[in-house]
Amino acid sequence: MPSGELKYIKKSQLTKVALSSSKELTEEVYLISFKREFEFLPGQVIGISPEEDGPRRLYSICSGADDDEVKILYNVVKEGYVTPRLSDLREGDAIWITAPRGKFLYDDGPAYWISTGTGIAPFYSMFRSGLFENKRLIHGERFIERFWFSDELRDNFGDNYLRCCSQESDESTFNGRVTEYLKTTDHLPADYKYYLCGRAEMVVEARDILIGRGIPFNNIISEIYF
Ligand SMILES: Cc1cc2nc3c(=O)[nH]c(=O)nc-3n(C[C@H](O)[C@H](O)[C@H](O)COP(=O)(O)OP(=O)(O)OC[C@H]3O[C@@H](n4cnc5c(N)ncnc54)[C@H](O)[C@@H]3O)c2cc1C
Repeated sequence: MPSGELKYIKKSQLTKVALSSSKELTEEVYLISFKREFEFLPGQVIGISPEEDGPRRLYSICSGADDDEVKILYNVVKEGYVTPRLSDLREGDAIWITAPRGKFLYDDGPAYWISTGTGIAPFYSMFRSGLFENKRLIHGERFIERFWFSDELRDNFGDNYLRCCSQESDESTFNGRVTEYLKTTDHLPADYKYYLCGRAEMVVEARDILIGRGIPFNNIISEIYF
């Protein structure tokens, strides 16, 4: 836990925080962090703006509920407003954040956690919070170097961590997109929950595949990054 009292951030209020670090993990993908001075539930998002009065965007928290630092994993959208500005920031620079919110939350029962790209963030937050029993984590990316947190995830999830790589292959990855895996795997229990997180195209396609394979609509829970 961070030292000192945890502050409550009012829903309507923007709070200024100083970055403790900003690292480019792979090309155009950054992990930023700042001291945690509030509580949140793993899976929640915060709004972030690099300017006090500028536009803000939502980002899933990518760290554990008890970690000292709040981390955010984002990819730079070249023509975007917020992310190119965020990527110019360095340790000590300010960002403005909203209170955490969101209902894409952990559930006790057996589940598949299915993500692409930075959509792994809410699942990583749940995992870092010690909440990953009965969970199978599937992460899709184009290149092997973009499976951030792989060693830690493999050590903890074992065979329940699956990497789907669409542009490269090695013996430790499924060769193809996440959606390809969902079409071909034999193991899709109808009584599991299926959590989907990532860009709209993946979430919509994966949802259609799951429904087509007999998963009840109510067992599919989505968080779309748009
Ligand atoms: C609930 C939720 C949680 C999110 N969590 C995360 C997260 O943890 N990490 C993260 O990286 N993003 C996340 N996002 C996306 C994020 O909120 C922004 O949309 C994204 O960072 C782009 O912001 P921007 O201001 O740089 O681009 P904008 O100025 O918003 O967009 C400029 C243009 O780029 C297009 N565009 C927007 N996003 C993308 C994209 N990802 N790829 C390609 N084109 C795009 C837009 O359609 C628009 O035409 C989340 C979104 C939601 C709704």
